[in-house]
Amino acid sequence: MSKTPDFKPVRANAPANATAHAASNAEPAGYIDDFRRAGHETVDWIAQYLSSLGDRQVLAATKPGQLYDALPASAPQQGESFEAILRDFDQLVMPAVTQWNHPRFFAYFACTGTTPAVLGEMLAAALNTNGLHWKTSPAVAELEQKTLDWLRQWLGLPGGESKNPWFGIVYDTASTSSMHAIVCAREMVDPEARVHGANHGNKGDLVLYTSDQAHSSIEKGAIAVGIGQKNVRKVPSDAQFRMNADTLAAMVAEDKAAGKRPFCVVATIGTTSSTSVDPLPQIVDVAEKYGMWVHVDCAYAGAAAVLPEHKHILAAAERAHSLVFNAHKWLLTPIDLSAFYTRRPDILRQAFSLTPEYLKTTDDPRAHNLMDYGVPLGHRFRALKLWFVLRYFGRERIEAMVRQHIEWAQRLAALVDADPRFERVAPVPFSVVCFRFKGSDDQNRLIMEKVNASGRVFISGTVLNGKQVIRLAIGNLHTVWEDVQEAWDLVAKAAGEV
Ligand code: PLP
Repeated sequence: MSKTPDFKPVRANAPANATAHAASNAEPAGYIDDFRRAGHETVDWIAQYLSSLGDRQVLAATKPGQLYDALPASAPQQGESFEAILRDFDQLVMPAVTQWNHPRFFAYFACTGTTPAVLGEMLAAALNTNGLHWKTSPAVAELEQKTLDWLRQWLGLPGGESKNPWFGIVYDTASTSSMHAIVCAREMVDPEARVHGANHGNKGDLVLYTSDQAHSSIEKGAIAVGIGQKNVRKVPSDAQFRMNADTLAAMVAEDKAAGKRPFCVVATIGTTSSTSVDPLPQIVDVAEKYGMWVHVDCAYAGAAAVLPEHKHILAAAERAHSLVFNAHKWLLTPIDLSAFYTRRPDILRQAFSLTPEYLKTTDDPRAHNLMDYGVPLGHRFRALKLWFVLRYFGRERIEAMVRQHIEWAQRLAALVDADPRFERVAPVPFSVVCFRFKGSDDQNRLIMEKVNASGRVFISGTVLNGKQVIRLAIGNLHTVWEDVQEAWDLVAKAAGEV
């Protein structure tokens, strides 16, 4: 990384002949000075908050409606001071916050909003720049392209050296990313649908395939795009919750014979419930035979592909058409930042651009107009926080964290296996352990309630093979092994009480 000059306040970089801008009528007196003072205080507050997070309750101890009722019925007529706003934030809002940044947040997929990303977000808000078009903010388009290219290299996807370099764009969530993938899939097999609608010409329903373990966002995306819920075929998974590729092949052949049009397969690398890994090479084989688009959802587990020893989880991804990875899960970036990659940016643009190609001849091919690559017109400077994260932590630190979390999950799995009252219900390929008390579903739910009621830990459950399962997800930067051990001790203690 080249040496950059020390960061100086913007004023220091302003043109020599700059004059102070006159204040508008709407600007409170002391507007900038207020911000400087309250800004310093807020950064101090954040530092104190982050350094003492482990002492807080993980789950908000708030009753429904409590915060709502505590807030004034209408907005103030006269502006208020930062002091008043920050006091209410601390006293009223904070008790209603569930602490996703907490080292003992083990529910869903644990995550971290790290300090470099907080600064990146602050700067993005200050700039308030909108990268809808290259010209409206070259920095938004180009920094995003570069940052996603760095991330692409870490994920091991093909770049400039290949015939089909992967193109990346930042959307808000994996749900949005996957919906865009489904539109691309339709555009590839039925480009006329863009003009005539999904069911034009009675050519047979378009059918999408994904496993019975896929995230609900895939089905939602298909519903939103007009594919129809009945045309989302859930391929059964095997005993380890992986899509059965032979069954996929049989279902596609059957649908094809019935006059339907199989157009898209979504494989998941790291499913939400058990983090199982679909057999991507075999899935791609089936899809290639029938000319289908393959979308890879590695929203959570993509972070593990950064490790050389886990690179294999994305084997054959280079033959897929698109992939989504959420930096806001295991990659130290606060919600929201979803990286969507495709090796067919031409199709993505064809699907979403409303400016005909022939009008674009004056455009520089290096000037990407991000509005042409998706539904939203406006494009937030989200990549800035990811750029801060990748630079501040570097690959080595990120690898070390992810590797450590995976090791701890193995250690926890060994504790579960050694306790005859429990059974582990899924393999542990990453940092999530799924297990159950050998009793009723109600007893398992009660164990989780007791553990969470302690305020020390937050775990969540899922259903696997029709049974209630306890699920512990490691993924926070601040977590240490003692936190995981404490969670297990609480589970083991609760099991003695149900
Ligand atoms: N895909 C997978 C595998 C997930 O686990 C999740 C959420 O946990 C999603 C997609 C949806 O992510 P988002 O909230 O970014 O839409």
